[in-house]
Amino acid sequence: MEHYIECAACGEEIDLSIDFEDGDDQEIRQQCEACGALNIVRASFDYAGGDFELECHCEAVG
Ligand SMILES: [Zn+2]
Repeated sequence: MEHYIECAACGEEIDLSIDFEDGDDQEIRQQCEACGALNIVRASFDYAGGDFELECHCEAVG
């Protein structure tokens, strides 16, 4: 499944691919190509909505 988030630091769009096979509650670490910030995305599957809900926060780099 293709999803995207906005970088918590700079707002750039970051593509994520999330596989339901990997679980219905996942933590995905994705580095922003624009600013290098490490975004930590919590993806929890919303069974009512039929899609993942994403919660993103940024971890300070360096
Ligand atoms: Zn960024």
